[in-house]
Amino acid sequence: LDPEEFRKQGHMMVDFLADYFHNIKTYPVHSLVEPGYLKKLLPDSAPNQPEPIEKILQDVQRDIFPGLTHWQSPNFFAYFPCISSTAGILGEMLTAGLNVVGFSWIASPAATELESIVMDWLGKLINLPKTYLFSGGGGGVIQGTTCEAMLCTIVAARDQMSDKVGRENMDKLVVYASDQTHFSFQKAVKISGIKPENFRAIPTTKATEFALCPESLSATIQEDIKVGLIPLFLCVTIGTTSTTVVDPLKPLCEIAKEYGIWVHVDAAYAGSACICPEFQHYLDGVENANSLSLNAHKWLFSTLDCCCLWVKDPSSLTKALSTTPECLRNKVTDSKQAIDYKDWQIALSRRFRSLKLWLVLRSYGVANLRNFIRSHIKMAKHFEGLVTMDERFEIVAPRKFSMVCFRFSPLALEKKDKFVDQDQVNKFNAKLLESINLSGNIHMTHALVGGVYMIRFAIGSPMTDYQNIDMAWEVIRNHANAMLDVKST
Ligand code: PLP
Repeated sequence: LDPEEFRKQGHMMVDFLADYFHNIKTYPVHSLVEPGYLKKLLPDSAPNQPEPIEKILQDVQRDIFPGLTHWQSPNFFAYFPCISSTAGILGEMLTAGLNVVGFSWIASPAATELESIVMDWLGKLINLPKTYLFSGGGGGVIQGTTCEAMLCTIVAARDQMSDKVGRENMDKLVVYASDQTHFSFQKAVKISGIKPENFRAIPTTKATEFALCPESLSATIQEDIKVGLIPLFLCVTIGTTSTTVVDPLKPLCEIAKEYGIWVHVDAAYAGSACICPEFQHYLDGVENANSLSLNAHKWLFSTLDCCCLWVKDPSSLTKALSTTPECLRNKVTDSKQAIDYKDWQIALSRRFRSLKLWLVLRSYGVANLRNFIRSHIKMAKHFEGLVTMDERFEIVAPRKFSMVCFRFSPLALEKKDKFVDQDQVNKFNAKLLESINLSGNIHMTHALVGGVYMIRFAIGSPMTDYQNIDMAWEVIRNHANAMLDVKST
């Protein structure tokens, strides 16, 4: 690592990325390459001799860019956002440059200490009860993804329960979620060793706007208890992936408390909105949950990956996840005066992720971060207004945050006396979405909830403004018009 060479190449890389951001809107948002495209362009084996960075960057532009879906494009409205920012990228750069491995406090004290400070900062910002903060006996850790955070909390709950009921009863443990819960929960449950048949995805209905109904949870738990099973864990979602539904945390936690069930709150996307006081009511009841996670890389400008997990009882995590090999023993660990974050996560090694979150919080300040989030929500309201004004379209799920779920309406598809069924409406909307995405002008994804196929319009790219929203709506209408013309000829 030659510092001067690093300086030279680093400047080139920053210029390259700055140019990319300048030009990002000129690229098709959604990559249109076929599987295996890159193998045809790149050599079969690694080069024997060094190649200059200029040449490599040219190849990135020529070969890699066509295979990119441009998540930071102002015309990207797919999935949930994964927002980058100058502070987030520079934080990543600092992390990569320093490249310390903070598995234990002694391995790099600042990495551990900054993480715990930043987690308390963010916990306070979303108004978590003191019991989740280090200053109140709880604590936070930055993980890679929600799935990892869920897995760690499930194994903490599992081991805690096993102390109570004995290892021989592990096959009886049951976990609960709604049928709208993100599939990463099911994956975490699978890895944790809970029997697949003990996973309850409780059906939701239109009547409760697809939120988990406390009565259904209660009835399911009671049925399980009746047959000798042991309720273990409940995942409550604040902002589901399909339609941003918010499960009623307070009553769900009250039921869980009655049965000694661990409650994890998955606020992967919508948790970031809770830095704004007007959204904090969605977390009412969290005082009776056990853990909460949010992905700061989704909607808090912190670049992938940055999943913030808080637990009220860190010892439950460390009991389940700690290992103390002789080679890592040191006085500080032995004295239990400091955190060894290796005992709060799956892996041993860990990146200094808190730097980017620290940079984001400091560089923008809370007031600006709140304004960014509010501006995305205002743009979503604006888009919702556009959809509502065109009677051929309809909003199919209540909008709570910065995502709008809509579809071309069945009524608009019906010819005079010819009824169209749900399947036909779904197919029309699926074709509409496909045709829009193939155009490369904007990118959206879909959900299927209660049998209804809907198009999700998720706002959150750092460069999106009202012009992009209006243009997107124009694109959507033009494609719908074209499809209808094709149908009538
Ligand atoms: N939970 C919710 C509500 C999500 O929306 C997502 C991803 O979009 C996840 C969990 C999965 O997150 P991760 O990829 O960090 O595991």
